[in-house]
Amino acid sequence: MKIGTPKETFEGEARVAMTPESAAQLQKLGHECIIEAGAGEKAGFADADYKAAGVEIAKTAAALWKTADVVAKVRVPDEAEMKRLRDGQTLISFFSPVADEAKMQAAAKKGATVIAMEMIPRISRAQKMDALSSMANIAGYRAVIEAGNNFGRFFTGQITAAGKVPPAKVLVVGAGVAGLAAIGTSTSLGAITYAFDVRPEVAEQVESMGAEFVYLDFEEEQQDGSASGGYASVSSPEFREAQLAKFRELAPDMDIVITTALIPNREAPELWTEDMVKSMKPGSVIVDLAAEKGGNCKLTVADEKIVTENGVTIIGYTDFPSRMGTQASSLYATNIRHLLADLTPEKDGVINHNMEDDVIRGATIAHAKEVTFPPPPPKVA
Ligand code: NAD
Repeated sequence: MKIGTPKETFEGEARVAMTPESAAQLQKLGHECIIEAGAGEKAGFADADYKAAGVEIAKTAAALWKTADVVAKVRVPDEAEMKRLRDGQTLISFFSPVADEAKMQAAAKKGATVIAMEMIPRISRAQKMDALSSMANIAGYRAVIEAGNNFGRFFTGQITAAGKVPPAKVLVVGAGVAGLAAIGTSTSLGAITYAFDVRPEVAEQVESMGAEFVYLDFEEEQQDGSASGGYASVSSPEFREAQLAKFRELAPDMDIVITTALIPNREAPELWTEDMVKSMKPGSVIVDLAAEKGGNCKLTVADEKIVTENGVTIIGYTDFPSRMGTQASSLYATNIRHLLADLTPEKDGVINHNMEDDVIRGATIAHAKEVTFPPPPPKVA
């Protein structure tokens, strides 16, 4: 089969779904690879690098979509790309099946197969294809780097001839994939790092990374905010009050706050209120990784950096993985390459779209002229 990757059309997107390295691996599965000219440029991969890895270069997007049997890309296709998608073609990309239901219906009607990367089941066997995690890991890391870039002091404490410098204090709210990456980055830079999550089982992970887990003044047996599958549930009003009271106590003392709290299929919970922002020291920085879902901080503006009257910087960027285009592309391309390995069990360049396979079934949202979303729950954990 011919696996093709077009240049991303979304304004400012730096990622690309195929790298010279992933293309070399795809060829070992018996596939041919084709890429649109310049598709890897923003991620640091030149056409010459692809050519050297045996990849054909398509001059235009139209030529790429026409020849590729499988199109692998990052963002949900735009209207022009949807027009190019054709019967019998397979599309692998992020494809929000709820928000972009009309596109999903249109793809099914055309007879295209669509695999949505955010629908890869979060089971152990599928970790290598889990693009939500690989991108969240980058977002967590980059949130700390971005905070540091907007913070006027060191993270680590120092005693120098020119004076004694206290370490920065960082609070990470939400210790899922992005939060744990932020905690690891923050502690490795030497900051005193605190973390909170409604799921008490993550306390051990937080502590093993050198951070301090923040406990609430709340009955211990009532602290558990876990739902199924390792996700969070909506907190009770009493729990939420206890959480806000603790954050109010911590706010004046924190230099950097990184919020990552999300609850599946809901707006992000509002956890960092206006009065907390007002009580922070000038020069403090908040990075709100939940900005795309409405934000954890009341004052966050999605895709913007603002500075409040009391001198607190609030960063609401929603494109952290794209800001690290090279790293994000290589991890995403590896996720895609693993998915294609499962789709090519004989390594003979023939795609076997096995709908009995939990991972393939779970992520397929259109197949054989049918919408196949939502999928049944996976049989194994
Ligand atoms: P997420 O993005 O849905 O949420 C981020 C974090 O916010 C979660 O840890 C959640 O508990 C926390 N949160 C929600 N409300 C909060 C509140 N009010 N205050 C503080 N924190 C709050 O989570 P995620 O990063 O996608 O990870 C969710 C789970 O999935 C984790 O248990 C993770 O280990 C698991 N996971 C499993 C796999 C796998 O097995 N393949 C892969 C990835 C993630």
